Amino acid sequence: MATTVAQIQTSVSEFVAKPRKMLIGGRWVDAVSGKTFETYNPATGEVLAHVAEGDRADIDLAVKAARKAFESGPWPDMSPSERGRLLWKLAELIDQHSEELAELETLDNGKPVYFSRIVDVPTASDAFRYYAGWATKLEGSTIPISALGAKYLAYTLREPVGVAGQIIPWNFPLIMASMKLGPALAVGCTCVLKPAEQTPLTALRLGELILEAGFPDGVVNVIPGFGETAGAALASHPDVDKIAFTGSTEVGKLILNAASGNLKKVSLELGGKSPNVVLQDADLESAIPGSAMAIFFNQGEICAAGSRLFAHKSIFDKVVEGVANFSKGFHIGPGIDPANNMGPLVSKEQQERVCGYLESGTKDGAKAVVGGKRIDGPGYFVEPTVLVDVKPSMKVVREEIFGPVVTAIPFGELDEVASFANDSIYGLASAVWTRDISKAHRLGAKLKAGTVWINCYNVFDSALPFGGYKQSGWGREWGKPALDLYTESKSLCARL
Ligand code: NAP
Ligand code: MG
Repeated sequence: MATTVAQIQTSVSEFVAKPRKMLIGGRWVDAVSGKTFETYNPATGEVLAHVAEGDRADIDLAVKAARKAFESGPWPDMSPSERGRLLWKLAELIDQHSEELAELETLDNGKPVYFSRIVDVPTASDAFRYYAGWATKLEGSTIPISALGAKYLAYTLREPVGVAGQIIPWNFPLIMASMKLGPALAVGCTCVLKPAEQTPLTALRLGELILEAGFPDGVVNVIPGFGETAGAALASHPDVDKIAFTGSTEVGKLILNAASGNLKKVSLELGGKSPNVVLQDADLESAIPGSAMAIFFNQGEICAAGSRLFAHKSIFDKVVEGVANFSKGFHIGPGIDPANNMGPLVSKEQQERVCGYLESGTKDGAKAVVGGKRIDGPGYFVEPTVLVDVKPSMKVVREEIFGPVVTAIPFGELDEVASFANDSIYGLASAVWTRDISKAHRLGAKLKAGTVWINCYNVFDSALPFGGYKQSGWGREWGKPALDLYTESKSLCARL
């Protein structure tokens, strides 16, 4: 059935106009407290939607519903193949509603609808399709053992860990929800998902599609609300078996403490300050735009952002000038206008935070070769910025800014750049641009980061594991390793 542009816009405006409830046990309900909160359109600063505000009491109900769905009823009896079929169906529903989801994501988060269409929505549906395939492939192993000289049959089973709490940030709301739910559902867990307060809308729409796909009641529960209340209640809940968190390193540490009460399993995808290294022999025609998009894609609001640019001293000026010129080509404005390819930051707070870093950089002696300021007017826009004359000790070099700001630093030797690049509490991603494959792999081996891109940047795929060294996190999501985060291994040993 063809859907017209007008029909899509009507469904988007109806969705945001209606007060949004939370999903518990297969039903859409108000908060126990009756409270709601507002979300804003970051391109205008205007109220976008009213959303039920979850808190401890709602988390309790959601965890009860998830526990019930995990222990009894259709979900635990379902065959792996049926689980896979539901996940695949959900992927198809996402694709059928792709334009609606893209517009909703852009209104809520601010990002250009162009990117919501080609990145966010297809990556989300691909996640469910990818994990649909894994539902039937969760294998244990048979193990030859020698204990006590007797004969045994010993083998392992992979079992779902139970009720999973999942807390996600605002920068890729739909992708984050999908990458959390996909592997958990494939292995048979049940979920309580808490989206970020700034961007709950696509997770709530996804909840509707989950019901439409036919997932049994209580298998997925979605509780919008604030981190300090709903998020903290989920992380500390004694009947949650596993908590998966994506967000800042600071909050990641709080999650860890909260999870210690019942020692629930914890996985953390945290912040980054990723080095992007351009060697002397790089093909600058791809390295320059690649380095610009490494930081400016999604307004720099991406954990993997190439926020520390290292270029060999012989090409440093050319690279910096190239990245600066590239940034002048952005059409900055409301993301919902398809002509714009850079949108606002997600919120007033985020705009203030990023501008605070720009001021601190200037005070410390850094120089903006391009950008360096907020953009006046409604909406939370900040100019794409390239900072030079920076020192490793400066805050702008050490801390995650999470905005369109890159610091550029020249280097001389390969060994020197490896130690520069690794001089960070973070270790999420990194990149090397070079025509010399030997150097690429030598440096790639030295970088302490969960991902090393070579002659590319921000390449994500459902099948490619992603996660951090050092304070960028615990565990790997995406790909096969995500299945381990949601399963327990059981050893069975029978004397023959
Ligand atoms: P954040 O402040 O850490 O929030 C992330 C999530 O945690 C939100 O849902 C938030 O709820 C919730 N939260 C806040 N305080 C909490 C608490 N005490 N207990 C439980 N939950 C709590 O991060 P953000 O500012 O939204 O996102 C940006 C950060 O995420 C950056 O550091 C970025 O690098 C990181 N990130 C990492 C990855 C990765 O894969 N490694 C991907 C994307 C983003 P509310 O928003 O409702 O307060
Ligand atoms: Mg919003």
